[in-house]
Amino acid sequence: MSESLNENKPKTSKQQKLVGVKGMNDILPPNSARWEWLEGKVRDLMSRYAYRNVRLPIVEPTALFVRGLGEVTDIVEKEMYSFEDRLNGEQLTLRPEGTAGLARSVVEHNLLYEGGKRLYYMGPMFRHERPQRGRYRQFHQIGAEVLGFGGPEVDAELILLAHHLWQELGLHDVRLELNSLGQPAERQAHRAALIAHLEKNIDVLDEEAKRRLHSNPLRILDTKNPAMQSVVESAPRLLDFLGEASLAHFNAVKAILDAHGIAFSINPRLVRGMDYYNLTVFEFITTRLGSQGTICGGGRYDYLIEQVGGKPSPAVGWALGVERVLELISEQGEPLPDVSPDVYAIIPEAAALPVAMPVLQALRTQGVSVHMHAGSGEGMGSMKSQFKKADASGARFALVFGAEELATGQVAIKSLRDGAGAQRTESLSHVSTWAHSLQSTL
Ligand code: ATP
Ligand code: MG
Repeated sequence: MSESLNENKPKTSKQQKLVGVKGMNDILPPNSARWEWLEGKVRDLMSRYAYRNVRLPIVEPTALFVRGLGEVTDIVEKEMYSFEDRLNGEQLTLRPEGTAGLARSVVEHNLLYEGGKRLYYMGPMFRHERPQRGRYRQFHQIGAEVLGFGGPEVDAELILLAHHLWQELGLHDVRLELNSLGQPAERQAHRAALIAHLEKNIDVLDEEAKRRLHSNPLRILDTKNPAMQSVVESAPRLLDFLGEASLAHFNAVKAILDAHGIAFSINPRLVRGMDYYNLTVFEFITTRLGSQGTICGGGRYDYLIEQVGGKPSPAVGWALGVERVLELISEQGEPLPDVSPDVYAIIPEAAALPVAMPVLQALRTQGVSVHMHAGSGEGMGSMKSQFKKADASGARFALVFGAEELATGQVAIKSLRDGAGAQRTESLSHVSTWAHSLQSTL
């Protein structure tokens, strides 16, 4: 073990530059402001639908995903970051998605004991995919899940919630595709017809599809291989195998969407990437992000909770890809949120710090955002360079704690943006009377 650790050490012990893992990104200012803005919008909207937040571990037992998502899926076959716990030999995996972990948690904590739950989560997910625009190895999802209710109204509520979120975020060009995967018995009947169709076209199938032909033929419909699209398109439609109850559920979801004027199209080939889905499945897709255009996907998963050891309980949910949603927002040309401070504090001499810093604290307590100038360790820097930094910070006002002002218990306030140059002085002993005049939110 120690040998392999040594191998991973940088070759030269000191100066070699280390870089992050491929496909795993740092989210830095100014872009991080967009992330915070999005998260704030989501929290606000979730509370209006009475969904409560959950925070689950990033590492789960590998068996959870193998059992929950299905052995013959892209994620389980080739995308999981799995490893053995060095101390106890447990097989663990960095979560590739959030639903299985939520189902595990619901069962473990008996969360449905008192009735259904509406929950949401946000956080990083990990899949070993080929990194490209809109596809990363660490990416982030926001998920909404409703557990314990079997009716079509919650399928519809979740779709309304996502649609509402696109509105609040100002997204354009997002369309909704819908399908029903029916129930296991209906899928069984469709399966035989599907296998027969695929066997007739065996020459067109790629290696992966041939391998899945008998283990999980439905999965083949989810292929991204362009050469197989016509076989997929001509395949028998699962929708034609649905019984009355499944059709009634599907029609009820559609009727509610119609009543809300939400446009959708039926995509009979929409199957989603995990095996746990049944009945309603859906995706929100944009044409503005190339081939990584699915920004959100979800559906009903009435058998997952039982699959991970719980009492059978219906459930439905969706997850959106945060990176893709944010890329769509910047694709639309939306400016980044303004996170400039209200005030930049200019402190010509370090001797002023004991007076200046408490004033800045008082301002922050009043809700003013304050960027304090900091020195090099050898001095605070010239006034000129401090003003330059104040301009660059985007602050609306400079507070100048000059010796002259301080001598009379005052501070100079200079406008940096609107009416740049305008200056006034205020008393240091009455900060709360003028603090509000600096706040951009007023
Ligand atoms: P795709 O078909 O694009 O691979 P998926 O069906 O694997 O997507 P889901 O597992 O349904 O995706 O995840 C829900 C959402 O998470 C997707 O619609 C997408 O927006 C986002 N997502 C999935 N995988 C990635 C990834 N590797 N990088 C960035 N976002 C992703
Ligand atoms: Mg995928």
